[in-house]
Amino acid sequence: TTRMTGTVQDITDRKQSEQELTHYRAALEAQVRLDPLTDVANRLALDEAVTREWHRALRSGAPLSLLMIDVDHFKAYNDHYGHVAGDHCLQQVAGALSAQFGRTGDLLARYGGEEFAVLLPGADASAAMAVALRLQDAVRLLALAHSGSACGIVTLSMGVSSLHAAPHMDADAAQALFQQADAALYTAKHTGRNRVVRYGADCMAALHPP
Ligand code: GH3
Ligand code: MG
Ligand code: MG
Repeated sequence: TTRMTGTVQDITDRKQSEQELTHYRAALEAQVRLDPLTDVANRLALDEAVTREWHRALRSGAPLSLLMIDVDHFKAYNDHYGHVAGDHCLQQVAGALSAQFGRTGDLLARYGGEEFAVLLPGADASAAMAVALRLQDAVRLLALAHSGSACGIVTLSMGVSSLHAAPHMDADAAQALFQQADAALYTAKHTGRNRVVRYGADCMAALHPP
């Protein structure tokens, strides 16, 4: 006579907890890359995207652009309306900016404080300028009152930089993208704010007029 013995175990609960854990991990992973105040991507997400898109640009030869965006006279905004209103203002600005994006790969991130950055894979300088002007308009249309601003509403200054990746370039070139956007933003600030400046001859000429 052949006998067989066995046990039956109901693993439904275990499977369910494993699935819950997987969802929980995925949610945590996503949350770690989000800015809690504005709900847009944070610096970590931006750094990862820059590395990823830089390598993609190297392979494809497609251009890569970066916008650095800074809210004008934001310290004065906080001083006049209070920090809570300042937080609300940043949320509204972030909302207006993010509503302008739909293309996969474009990434809006809060860079820190009242600064945002936008990574635009595949965009050359003129495409990046067009996006920057659209973003500026979107925030202008919000018409958020700002007593400390020259035109009475919240405005943005932006620096734009673009590059075409070439095989001889190393990862430092991706960092140069940030430095150039920053230099252009600096020019935008020092030539009157509420404007978009593209890195290049214009940027230098504005800083050092002949
Ligand atoms: P500029 O036009 O030159 O950019 O002047 P600014 O006043 O915007 O720049 P500054 O760097 O002097 O001040 C930035 C201000 O942004 C100061 C800081 O308190 C405020 N800020 C940064 N992060 C937050 C935030 O999360 N919430 C609020 N309410 N304010 C913030
Ligand atoms: Mg700033
Ligand atoms: Mg500012």
